[in-house]
Amino acid sequence: MKYISTRSNYSCNSLQAVLSGISPDGGLFISPEILSSPFDWRSVIGQPTLEMARLILSHLLPDFNDMEDLVQKAYRGKFETEDLTPLVKVGDKYVLELFRGPTSAFKDVALSMLPQLITAAKKQTGDKDETVILTATSGDTGKAALEGFHDVPGTRIIVFYPDGGVSPIQRAQMVTQEGSNVRVCAVRGNFDDCQTAVKQTFAKVNAMEELKNAGKTLSSANSINIGRLAPQVVYYFKAYSDLVGENRISLGDQIDFVVPSGNFGDILAGYFAKLLGLPVRHLICASNENRVLTDFLTTGLYDRQRPFYRTSSPSMDILVSSNLERLLFLACGCDAEQVRSWMSDLSSKGSFKVQASVLKRITDTFKAYCCTEKETISTIGETYRKDGYLCDPHTAVGIKAAGDYMNKVKDNVPVVVLSTASPYKFPAPVSEAIGLPVSGDEFFQIEQISKKTGVPVPKNLSSLESKKELHDDVIDRTAVMEYVLQVLGI
Ligand SMILES: *Cc1c(COP(=O)(O)O)cnc(C)c1O
Repeated sequence: MKYISTRSNYSCNSLQAVLSGISPDGGLFISPEILSSPFDWRSVIGQPTLEMARLILSHLLPDFNDMEDLVQKAYRGKFETEDLTPLVKVGDKYVLELFRGPTSAFKDVALSMLPQLITAAKKQTGDKDETVILTATSGDTGKAALEGFHDVPGTRIIVFYPDGGVSPIQRAQMVTQEGSNVRVCAVRGNFDDCQTAVKQTFAKVNAMEELKNAGKTLSSANSINIGRLAPQVVYYFKAYSDLVGENRISLGDQIDFVVPSGNFGDILAGYFAKLLGLPVRHLICASNENRVLTDFLTTGLYDRQRPFYRTSSPSMDILVSSNLERLLFLACGCDAEQVRSWMSDLSSKGSFKVQASVLKRITDTFKAYCCTEKETISTIGETYRKDGYLCDPHTAVGIKAAGDYMNKVKDNVPVVVLSTASPYKFPAPVSEAIGLPVSGDEFFQIEQISKKTGVPVPKNLSSLESKKELHDDVIDRTAVMEYVLQVLGI
């Protein structure tokens, strides 16, 4: 069964799709054939989480020889709880906690697995090159990728972050990273400057003869890689299985999911779960003030020409949601030419519009809500006071959207909100929301919050303050290329 590009008739198997990350024509890999082939989803329900992961990943990535071993290596002993992603009842909703991994963000679920997939794919295809991961991060991806790839044989990882553009906690997480194959470097400028410089460097270095001769291949840890998307399908089944196990629903009943969205990867994984048979009724896309997805899902017009807002949920401050391309491909009947034309409109005009029939197909499943900064903060406060649950700003956007949605549909279908980060990763807005003075540094704020709420601080965050800073490189964005070449010794 093949993976195909969303922009041409290029195709490859799942090993190659994981190794290349993006198709040579600029499209993303997807396999409509795999998503529609029979999958015994009922047999997954009730299994331990790692067994669910094995069954689902073997179906989605069928060319990998020993998925059992890869899943064990990726997850065993790395998360706070053995079931990886606990489901908790919060008021009249359920919250699926995806932040119990090594860096306290949901990206750990996928980035624990990706290095295993890349290493296995290289072994099976006889690829002996060193894989060099180049990543620009606005905070969470960088640390989760460092944690996943450090000391993985045959790989090297270089992370660039905007100098002064990530939170002090996020910076501390990255610059204290140990490992013989890691480099972390600050780039003067904002995240866009940093990302543009890294993308340009990627393209230039990738085309260099010297890179091949040195036995190195570039790759990315971004959610355009199908190897990052596939592991995220698992926790939708896990949440459903927990609801069945607690007798909240019967096998076959429908449920709804609310997903705080940025690049649209997390929510798309929920759609894959639905295509595999999981009884998902609606997927509710929750956005912050950067409401480009809300507007698209209500009008069919995707328009990135708009002001960009910095919010307290920075991982969702995004105006180009790359994974939407995969949904568009499925919704237009896998018409690569049509997708190519939308994407070319997006890059030339900054917008594209889909036909009413395409929008209809999408909105049968996808609903959309957005949330202001003020509402985000008040939702954190209210959820804490009323339900005794402390959430981070990204999760708060989801909880607010869930409330709005439930007021509209008014029925008893259970609603699960995906929680994407620990509240301790964003101590300033959380302090403000629960009535603590926002003073001192973030480590002080973390202490204050835990004193007031009694919610335990994840170990990886509480140990940060005493850790040694190992990476102090700061460069201009024009120097990114030179930096990479020097690290690679070419
Ligand atoms: C990345 C991220 C998101 C957005 O997920 P997408 O897959 O990009 O839609 C939401 N919350 C947090 C905390 C994140 O790190």
